[in-house]
Amino acid sequence: MPDHSTAPVPQPVQIPERADTVGPGWQELLGRLHHQLRAMVPGYRLVDLGEKFGGLRVHVESVGDDGDATRTLITAAEAESMRTCEFCGAPGRVRTREDASRGWRKTVCDTCHGLWSAHHLMIVNGAVRGRPSEA
Ligand SMILES: [Zn+2]
Repeated sequence: MPDHSTAPVPQPVQIPERADTVGPGWQELLGRLHHQLRAMVPGYRLVDLGEKFGGLRVHVESVGDDGDATRTLITAAEAESMRTCEFCGAPGRVRTREDASRGWRKTVCDTCHGLWSAHHLMIVNGAVRGRPSEA
């Protein structure tokens, strides 16, 4: 029998390693989700993290009996993301540029919606590029 206690443990990819896939407004809720998941499954493995149809999407490898519990946490965080501006973290909702009936969707607050509609805001590698505010 090999002695597993001395074998190097591969570090699974977790939320902090991929958090810069989405905007700064969601970093706080991602950090919270990470700690909640760690409390339940310390070695949880992140499969995918990104933005889809304006909201946050997180996929974690399901781990036995904890699958339902982790799913509940993730669902709550995804729902929260759709009420949280991805640019700045203020209360927001899923909108399109200029509130057009179709087009790219993003969760934005009123202030960021105007700037984003005017193509003054974009998210690159987890940071907001462009003019962060008109103030
Ligand atoms: Zn905003």
